[in-house]
Amino acid sequence: MKKIMVTGGAGFLGSHLCERLVDEGHEVLCVDNYFTGSKRNVYHLMDDPRFEFMRHDVTFPLYIEADEIYNLACPASPIHYQFDPVQTTKTSVHGAINMLGLAKRLKAKILQASTSEVYGDPNVHPQPESYWGHVNPIGPRACYDEGKRCAETLFFDYHKQHGLRIKVARIFNTYGPRMHPNDGRVVSNFIIQALKAEPITIYGDGLQTRSFCYVDDLIEALIRLMNTPDDFTGPVNTGNTDEFTMLELAEKIIRLTGSRSEIIFRPLPSDDPKHRQPDITLAREKLEWEPKTALDEGLEYTIAYFKALLASGNGNKPQECGVPQKSGIKGCLLYTSPSPRDLSTSRMPSSA
Ligand code: NAD
Ligand code: UDP
Repeated sequence: MKKIMVTGGAGFLGSHLCERLVDEGHEVLCVDNYFTGSKRNVYHLMDDPRFEFMRHDVTFPLYIEADEIYNLACPASPIHYQFDPVQTTKTSVHGAINMLGLAKRLKAKILQASTSEVYGDPNVHPQPESYWGHVNPIGPRACYDEGKRCAETLFFDYHKQHGLRIKVARIFNTYGPRMHPNDGRVVSNFIIQALKAEPITIYGDGLQTRSFCYVDDLIEALIRLMNTPDDFTGPVNTGNTDEFTMLELAEKIIRLTGSRSEIIFRPLPSDDPKHRQPDITLAREKLEWEPKTALDEGLEYTIAYFKALLASGNGNKPQECGVPQKSGIKGCLLYTSPSPRDLSTSRMPSSA
């Protein structure tokens, strides 16, 4: 049993990770400022003696004890990270410095949730870890992309300069239950639009591609990466290699939901990457891992989650959802009438 800290633990990925680690018998400290996360994502863990929650902003130093640190704190969807871009960069950069400083003092192992966005709008396809990327340093996505790139630099310099044990995962688009319903990401947008029989909004011509990984597969990869021998640092791509256009995704979701929604086209946001597909040769070799969940299957679980979310009536009390219990997604807590208040800080725009 280890003492493990998860920053960003009340968010989409973080809450699944906390749950897995608690299930494995570890003591888990979840640290989050609730910017995009919610207490409701970890509500079902609150009574577990192995789980503890701390409200804290990682841009400030933190003094706790831990054997391992998973650094996930950072808003991940474009509308969230672009809302306060300076804070986004600070979260990635100051957050990394603070968590690395903590890991150094504790001699703890530390994993960074990096991103495929370090490749920007890639001109190498699929993207191997050796590709340095194609990022606009002053564009609307830069606060996230460059913040994550700088965090990787810090991780590797702490490793080289101070001998810190680091792990860097470059996470590709991940989806599943507990995605925020209003974060504007394509999977949640399309599912909610389809379930409400509203038009499905494709940005651009819909021929841009993404490769979507189901959350359980991704969490498995992060845990395996943390457990690799100390001489393996990554960066390692973690994602599903099955690539789809946004048109194909929309058609799939219409079919799986049996929706009457029509597809409409809206302008493409600037700097929107045209293609994204991970090369996971390294993950296969070093983590002995590859995703197991096909997009249709993962979408079914995610659709069931959002269906239950929409059907859960009014009121603000969390409720158990009826999501199929794949690999122990227990107690997916739902909230009704999602409001900006659920995003914890009054800094969020009401449209988010
Ligand atoms: P999320 O927005 O659901 O979770 C992020 C969590 O970090 C939230 O709970 C938020 O409240 C918290 N947070 C934000 N700023 C903070 C701060 N300054 N101090 C403390 N907590 C803070 O996003 P997610 O999808 O769960 O992503 C988790 C991590 O994985 C992020 O670092 C993200 O960049 C990375 N990632 C996610 C994806 C994906 O597809 N979901 C892809 C690539 C990388
Ligand atoms: N997208 C879309 N309609 C939407 C939301 C997103 O067509 O309602 C597109 C978006 O322009 C991008 C892709 O879907 O090309 C993935 O967007 P998302 O924000 O989910 O992830 P990211 O762009 O960060 O990979």
